[in-house]
Order: sequence, then structure tokens, then C-alpha cells
Amino acid sequence: MSENDKPAIEGGSPVRENILTFSPPSIGQEEIDAVVDIMRSKWITMGKKTVEFENQLNKYIGSKHTLVVNSCTAALHLALQAHGIGVGDEVIVPAMTFAATVNVIVQCGATPVLADVDPETYNIDPKDIKRKVTKKTKAIIPVHYGGQPCDMNAIRKIAKKHRLVVVEDAAHAIGAEYMGKRLGKSGTVCFSFYATKNMTTGEGGAVATDNKEVAEKIRILRLHGIDKDAWKRYSSEGNWYYEIKEAGWKYNITDMQSALGMVQLKKLDSFILRRREIAKMYDKGLNKSFFVLPKEVWGVYHARHLYPVQLRLDKVSIDRAKFIEAMSKENIQTSVHFIPIHMHPFYKNISVSLPVTESVYRQFVSLPIYPDMTDKDVQNVVDAANKIAEFYKR
Ligand SMILES: *Cc1c(COP(=O)(O)O)cnc(C)c1O
Repeated sequence: MSENDKPAIEGGSPVRENILTFSPPSIGQEEIDAVVDIMRSKWITMGKKTVEFENQLNKYIGSKHTLVVNSCTAALHLALQAHGIGVGDEVIVPAMTFAATVNVIVQCGATPVLADVDPETYNIDPKDIKRKVTKKTKAIIPVHYGGQPCDMNAIRKIAKKHRLVVVEDAAHAIGAEYMGKRLGKSGTVCFSFYATKNMTTGEGGAVATDNKEVAEKIRILRLHGIDKDAWKRYSSEGNWYYEIKEAGWKYNITDMQSALGMVQLKKLDSFILRRREIAKMYDKGLNKSFFVLPKEVWGVYHARHLYPVQLRLDKVSIDRAKFIEAMSKENIQTSVHFIPIHMHPFYKNISVSLPVTESVYRQFVSLPIYPDMTDKDVQNVVDAANKIAEFYKR
């Protein structure tokens, strides 16, 4: 065995010298200039730039109404509240998701009901939704996992039959399409502009909805339950008068973030194209006898926010934790999306068996995928992963 075949964790040389970070944002001079311009303008919080950002997003998504807020978490919370979800209601949600999707259900006073995922897409399994509907069920939150749209036709059919609200968690999936239509064009759909997501405002999010009443509720709830936006109140065309309509939240975004978001939105399609190119390189390069690769199913345009592989524990003698450690010794950062919700201390009291979620989780590793990766970076990841798996093969 040559030095090059030996993993760094076993004393071989690493595939690269400097660290490949997991998911840095793509921020260029244009983004920096846009934010600085806002800072110089002296109107730094939500104002005209945010209205402009909202309009551009609305156009991109193709929705009737789009409202930007300070996170996808806030977007989900407001969407549930605006749809009337509250105490005594059950909301069906996949266990394979981030804290936010489930915490907001609890924050509304409702009860999360965890569903299993489909083994091909890692998206919520419509068959399990059907099994989990009760008289108390009021809503479903499908998560478009990793940027791949869920089976929305099946989900909408169930929702229609039982008169359920559907609020989509598209934190990973701005720009993704389902049956030729961008997510958010219909229904109520939440997006994230967190630093690691496909486009970023540092922190930020948006709700797109085709429901006028829901949009109006969210508009008021996002800023203290007050009926006018700050810029209208304080600009010369506005006036000093306002009314509190509800005990709302302080969930607005700032113009500094919106300025950043407008530049990112312009680049979003090219960002996604580069992500898709990287996914293709991984599909080709990774050794399929050791890794189960993520698939793009028929009828969708995958935004490739994540590239999660399953390390086949039947084919290697190490576990996932050791694999991640070995990758990090090769100077490559990886991650896990996600630790299933029912395995966290706060949610441990939910007693539920989710065989696909649990088995996939044990084998899950997300490889770096982002627009600024060079072909050489991608090749390093492929080489490191294949080298480690081959060394520890059973
Ligand atoms: C990131 C993420 C969120 C939360 O987004 P924020 O903008 O950080 O609030 C929600 N759901 C999923 C699946 C996510 O990955």
C-alpha cells in the first residue's frame, strides 16, 4: 500500500493541505458595496430596499404575495399562526428536519406529530402522513429536504381530503421546481436566507402565499401587530398614526440585509447550476459500493442545497462518526442533516418508531456543496471519501 492510499487518520498524507469548509456563503464585492451603500444612506432597518427586495422575490417565485422576515423560523411561525394553528391542534412534520420546523409548532401551542421519510428522497412519506392523520390534525409541514421538492400532489390530495393546511418548509429549496413550477408559486411556502443556504442575507427568510388573508395577517404580525410599516410611518408621505391590531412579533428584516439579498437573488440561478454541476461530479466520482448517493426524482428541479450520502455500514468496518473524523483529518469538513427530532432531549417523550429515518440517520453524512467550490475541491472530497471507505472495507 502506498502512502497515497492510506487515510490521514492512519498516518497517510491528507488529500489537501488547507481546510475545505462545509458551507461558506458566496459573497463578492457587489454584495459588500450594496450593504455599504445602505449604511451610508442612514436608513438601515426595514424600508424601501426591503419593499424592493420583496417585489423582486415575489416576481422570481411567481407568487401572489411574498413577505420577507428575519428568518425562515419566523416565516414558519407566522405562517402557522396566520393559518390559525393553535392550542389543541396536531401538525404532521417529518422527523428528519431542523429544530425550527418543529419548535414553531410547539410555540403555537400545537402538538407535533412526527412522520417517517421516503428512503429515496428523504422527504416526508405521504403514506405515513395518511397513517398519522387524526381528528385533531390541522396541518402538514412538508420539508423539501436538501432542495428536492416533496411529492406535493400526494400531500395536497391528503390535505384536501381531511381539510388540512399545508405550510411548506422550503428553507433548502428556493429556486427548486415541482412539475415545472417554482416552489412558492402556489400554497404557503417558507424560505431561508441563513448564511449557509442557497442564497443569503446573513439571517433572513420569506413567506410566499397565494392567500390574501394570510398575507395580510403576516404583514401585521411580523411587526408588533401594527398596521403600517415603519418607513410609511416616518417618511414624508406617511403620518405618525398607527394601530396595534394584535400582540405581534418583532420579525422584520433590515434594509442592509435586503440589499444583500437583492444581489444574491440575481445570482441564485447560477448558484444552483453550479451546485447541480458539483452534484453530477459527486454522482460520477463516488464509489457506489460504499455510498448510497442522493437521487433527483422525476418531475422536479433539485436545488441541491445538500449532498447527503449514506455510508454503507454493511460494507465498511467503521461507523459514521469515525468516517467524519477521518474526513476532517483529510482537511475536509462534513456535516449531518439531521439528528432526527425524536432523538433530542426535548422531544424524547414523543414515542414513535420511524424505521427509515432512524436507519438513514446512522449512515448519513453531508458532503460540502456550494458555488465557490472548484473542480479540484470536489475531486479532493471524492478522493478522500473513496480512499477512507476502501481502506476500511469489510
Ligand atoms: C435552516 C433551516 C430552517 C431555519 O431557517 P432560519 O432562516 O435559520 O430560521 C428551517 N428548516 C430547515 C429544514 C432548515 O434547514
